[in-house]
Order: sequence, then C-alpha cells, then structure tokens
Amino acid sequence: MATKPPTVCPLCNEEMGASQCLEDHLVDDHAKRELAKHAVSYYEMEELGSVQE
Ligand SMILES: [Zn+2]
Repeated sequence: MATKPPTVCPLCNEEMGASQCLEDHLVDDHAKRELAKHAVSYYEMEELGSVQE
C-alpha cells in the first residue's frame, strides 16, 4: 500500500522516477508543439466521446 503506481508520461510513455515529476518532464523533454498537439487530440477525443446517439 505504501507504493503508488508510477506516473507515466502520456506523450512518450516514459515512467517518472521518484524524484521526477511529470510536469518537469513535459517542460524539459517535450516541445510546446507536442504538448499542444496532445491537448488538442485529447480535447477532440472528449468531443467525440460526448456525442451519443
Ligand atoms: Zn514524455
């Protein structure tokens, strides 16, 4: 119970170490463009997912 599952970067699937936070990883290892693309695709997925018949 003491250990929580590792945080995994949604962009490159890299596991964050104990001293590494996802936010820092995103800023350091990913370009703004990559982050924007991911945000847009996530948003579009949400949009599509909310369309129900
Ligand atoms: Zn990453």
